Amino acid sequence: MTPLRPKILIVDDLPSNLLAMRKVLGKVDAQLIEAGNGNDALALCLDHEFALILLDVDMPGMDGYELAELLRGEPRTAQVPLIFVTASYSDELHRKRGYSVGAVEYIQKPVDDFILRSKANVFLELYLSRKGLEAELARSEAMAASLRDSEARLRISEQKFRNLVENISDLIWETDSEGRFTYVSPRCGQLFGCPPEDLLSRPLLELCRPEDIARVRAAMSDGVGRLELALAAADRRLVHTEISITPILDTQGFVIGHRGITRDITIRKRVRAELAQKTAELERSNADLEQFAYVASHDLREPLRMVNSFLGLLSRRLGDQLDDEAKEYITFAMDGAQRMDHLIRDLLAYSRIGRSPLPDEPIPLATTLESALANLTVAVEESGAIVTVPKDMPELRVDDVEFVRLFQNLIANAIKYRHPDRPPRVEISAQRKEAEWEFRVSDNGLGIESKYCERIFQIFQRLQGRNEAEGTGIGLAVCKRVVGRYGGRIWVESIPGEGSVFCFTIPDITL
Ligand code: ADP
Repeated sequence: MTPLRPKILIVDDLPSNLLAMRKVLGKVDAQLIEAGNGNDALALCLDHEFALILLDVDMPGMDGYELAELLRGEPRTAQVPLIFVTASYSDELHRKRGYSVGAVEYIQKPVDDFILRSKANVFLELYLSRKGLEAELARSEAMAASLRDSEARLRISEQKFRNLVENISDLIWETDSEGRFTYVSPRCGQLFGCPPEDLLSRPLLELCRPEDIARVRAAMSDGVGRLELALAAADRRLVHTEISITPILDTQGFVIGHRGITRDITIRKRVRAELAQKTAELERSNADLEQFAYVASHDLREPLRMVNSFLGLLSRRLGDQLDDEAKEYITFAMDGAQRMDHLIRDLLAYSRIGRSPLPDEPIPLATTLESALANLTVAVEESGAIVTVPKDMPELRVDDVEFVRLFQNLIANAIKYRHPDRPPRVEISAQRKEAEWEFRVSDNGLGIESKYCERIFQIFQRLQGRNEAEGTGIGLAVCKRVVGRYGGRIWVESIPGEGSVFCFTIPDITL
């Protein structure tokens, strides 16, 4: 900040007087501004702030007294010291008039240079010290305002945090260095069934079970800790909680207490235990069921083989003696036994899904698809199907045999349920979509009405009769089970009479 240089206004109609004054005051540390008449002086007072005004009394037009009166009447200049300097009007009457219009001095010419300079210096000093005081006052007012502002902001932020602490569903607390509660948030009521005041100055360890005390002490002395604890509520109920503890430090970094967040996890714990129990039950019953399906289908095939082979024997032995009707009955019986064998075989395959361990490394699905197509060579040739495979197939950590079956079932169906008027066209695609791969097997076959689109994935659900298309109704259920093993989804999009697209996804985790 540049130091303030005070200004002195000299008002005199005679240039020679102005010159003389300038000479006298030239040695004073102030800026001298001159006016030749009262009007100019008033105009200058609008633009400048003066520390002192020296004015002549006898001036044409507005005289010194009138000018002084006008200056006193203006708030901007009312406090500026006025000194009359005059060569005429030395009588007492004029002196009195001068003081009555607000002059601080009435000096008679010839002026003693030294005295005038000294007086001017006194008023300049007064002016400077007043200015200094004003600046000091303004600074302290600004400081007080900023302090008030900071206080208000602090109050708002404190209120915000208090609201947060009080409305949060967790309990927030603080302890002193002895582990005694110094603050407990209002959640205390819901958690421990008592008002926060009941816990104040009680030790935290008092709420803990004896077997947990060592753990809590360790967490507090380690500085930071997160632990699960069962704490005793006011009504002796055990509340399962999860607690995070952090130390409170003083300005020198010494631990002066602890702050903690306590969350009620009683319900979470109960649900978790129930879930674990249900999962265990489910796993058990699933394993039982799989075991049952496996054993049953395995053991059922044996008597079936007997029925089949004895029927064969019967027809060979008695072939000549049997009439056409009897021969037809035997064919029906053998046909039935064969279908039952298919059914059992498919059931067996269904029950086996998910039993084999996953490979350690991802397998190339291009090869898997090739194997599926190789198994379908006859069906493809007989139907004249055109099958298109994708250029790029991913490598995934999935079971090869299961995926051969998955592709094979979908492609076989696309050929089996073809439209009678056109040769089948089957297109297979694989596309990466965000965190999963999406595979699509589309055909130009019979299509499926939307109301059946979900049902066909259930076991034994078929839309065609036995005479229209061979099948056991297990193929798509197998596909669903395979995809489900990897956390994927399977669905069909179809337009009846035009064709279907069977889609399935496999999450990236199997990469
Ligand atoms: P299956 O072929 O042995 O009958 P699936 O479980 O493979 O058993 O199929 C269930 C039913 O879904 C089939 O009977 C058929 O009606 C229908 N379906 C499956 N794939 C297609 C397809 N690509 N086009 C039309 N219908 C289909």
